[in-house]
Amino acid sequence: MKWTKTLIPTLREAPADAEILSHKLLLRAGLIRKLAGGVYTFLPLGLRALRKVEQIIRQEMDRAGAVEVLMPSLQPAELWQQTGRYETARAVLFRLKDNGGREWVLSATAEEVITTLVANEINSYRQLPKNFYQVSGKFRDEIRPRFGLMRAKEFIMKDAYSFDTTDEGAMASYQKMYDAYKRIFDRCGVQNFPVEADTGVIGGSHSHEFMVPADTGENDVVFCEACGYAANVEKATSGIPKTATREMGATIEKFATPGVVTIEALTKAPFSVPANRQIKTLVYVADSKPVIVLIRGDDQLNEAKLAGVVGTTIFRAATAEEILPALGAHPGSLGAVGVKGIGVYADARLNGANEMTTGANEDGFHWRNVSIERDITVTKWWDLRTVSPGEPCAKCGKPLKIRRAIEVGHVFKLGTKYSEALNATFLDEDGSRKPCVMGCYGIGVTRTLQAIIEQSNDKDGIVWPLAVAPYQVCITPLNVTADNTCMKHAETIYAQLTAQGVEAILDDRDERPGVKFKDADLVGFPIRVSIGEKSLANGEVEIKPRGGAMTLVKVDEVVKKVLALVNRIPG
Ligand code: ATP
Ligand code: MG
Repeated sequence: MKWTKTLIPTLREAPADAEILSHKLLLRAGLIRKLAGGVYTFLPLGLRALRKVEQIIRQEMDRAGAVEVLMPSLQPAELWQQTGRYETARAVLFRLKDNGGREWVLSATAEEVITTLVANEINSYRQLPKNFYQVSGKFRDEIRPRFGLMRAKEFIMKDAYSFDTTDEGAMASYQKMYDAYKRIFDRCGVQNFPVEADTGVIGGSHSHEFMVPADTGENDVVFCEACGYAANVEKATSGIPKTATREMGATIEKFATPGVVTIEALTKAPFSVPANRQIKTLVYVADSKPVIVLIRGDDQLNEAKLAGVVGTTIFRAATAEEILPALGAHPGSLGAVGVKGIGVYADARLNGANEMTTGANEDGFHWRNVSIERDITVTKWWDLRTVSPGEPCAKCGKPLKIRRAIEVGHVFKLGTKYSEALNATFLDEDGSRKPCVMGCYGIGVTRTLQAIIEQSNDKDGIVWPLAVAPYQVCITPLNVTADNTCMKHAETIYAQLTAQGVEAILDDRDERPGVKFKDADLVGFPIRVSIGEKSLANGEVEIKPRGGAMTLVKVDEVVKKVLALVNRIPG
C-alpha cells in the first residue's frame, strides 16, 4: 500500500475529549474517528489491526471446535420478552419500533437468537454438543460511553454459545473456551490473566473474566501473589474472620443518640461503640420495593453482590423521603430490629453476631445488645461486603492485593435458563426430552484492540505487537522525487517484500524525513526500512525495529533481513 493512496490522518495533539492514552493514540495515529459519543468509524489502519485481532480469534475458535455463524443485529422484542430480559436488561438495550409499530431490539448479545435457532434446528443428543460463534456489531446504551472503544455504544464482539447434553459436557465446553481465550490474548501480544467473575443476575455457577492489567481499567481485581487466587472485586471473598460473638445475656436496650447519624460519630465518646460492633443499615429500592441491607459498620457494601441477591441490576439507594414512611426514621437512625414485611439482606460476616449496636428506626435513638439471630428477621444471608487490600487470602492466608484491569473477555456457564425459556430441548438417548445445557463466551474485539495499545506504547506512539500491527513494515524513502534512486529502491524493496507475503506500506509522501519518522513511530509499525541517498552511496539502507536500534544492511540483503525479523519477533 502507498501512504498517499490510503487515509492516515495523524494528529500532533489528541482532541480534548480523549482522556486515556490508548484513546489519544487511536485518534492521533489516524486509526479511528468519532462520529458521535461512543460511536466510531474505523479508518484503514485501524481496520487492518482490528481484522488481525479478529483473525486470531477466528483461528482459535475454529481450532477449539466452534463454528461460525452470523446472526442479525435486529432482533424481535418478543424473544427478549420470553427470557424476561426485555425488562431486566432495559437499561442497556436499544429498543426501537418499525414503521408498522412492531418492536425490535438491537443486538446487545445473542442468547435469545441462537437459542431459538437451536430450538428449531437441533432435536437429538446425536447432534450435540455444538458451539456457535459470530463476530459482529453489538449495541449497548451505555449511560457513560467513554475512553473511546473501551466503553462504546456500538462495538464489535465475538460471542459464542455452547450447547451440551449434560452438565459435565457443558463444563468441558467451558474449559475449551477458557483455554482458547488464553491463547487468543497471548497471541494478540497483550498481558492478560483470568479471574473469577460474578455470575450476577443470570446466576450461573461458573464464570471467568479475562483481564488486561491497566491503571485505566474499570475493574478492580483482587489477587494473591502467593497462591494465584484472582477474582473480580464483585465476586472476591477473603479469609477475614467473622464477627466475634460475645457472651449472651444482655437484653436489647434502646438508648438516646441525639444528633448521631454516622457510624463514625457513634464510635466517639460518650458512646464509644467500635465500628465492628455496629450494624450499618442501608435501604435500596429494587423492582419499586424497598429492601434493607445490613452490613458491618466497618465494611463496605458491594453493589454487584447485592444485584446477585435481589435478582436484578436495576436498583438504587432509597431517598430519605421514601425511607421515612417505610421505616419511620431518617438515615442515620435506621435498623432492622423487629422489621416485618420488607426484605432484609444481611452480609454473611454478621451471621451469628451479637452484642451489636444499630439504629432504632426512631430519630435520635439506637439499640444496643442486639443479637441478630434473636432480634432481626433476616430474609437471606449473602456475601455482600467488598474485600479490601491486605485482608488474608481465603485459600492461603497471605495478604491480598487489588489492581485495576480492563475486562476483555468473559466466559460463562449458563445452565438451562435460556434453553428452558426458549424451549431448546433435545431427545436424549433414553427417549426423554431435556433442555440443552448452555455456556456463553464473549470477547470485546474493539476493546481488546484498544487494550493492546493501552499496554504497548512509548513516548513516541504505539508499539504494535507484530501479530496485530496494521502493516509489519514501513518503507520510508527519504526523497520521493521521480528521478531519485531512493524511490526506485523503495519500490523494488516494496515489491519484493510484498511478493514474500510481508505486509508493507510505502511512505511515498513528499515530506521531510523527520515528519515521516515521527508518523511511522506514532502509528507504531514494527519494522522501518529507511532509504536515503547517503547510505545508498555505500549500497546500504537502514533497518530499525520499533523501539530498537538501527542497523545498516546491504540493499540486496534487505528482504532476507526483514523476513528474519518478521519471523523472529514473537506474535
Ligand atoms: P462491562 O462490565 O465492561 O460493562 P459486560 O460484563 O457487560 O462489560 P459482557 O456482556 O461480558 O460485558 O460482554 C462481553 C465483552 O464485550 C466484555 O468482556 C467486553 O470486552 C466487551 N464489552 C462489553 N460492553 C462493551 C462496551 N460498551 N464497549 C466495548 N466493549 C464492550
Ligand atoms: Mg462481562
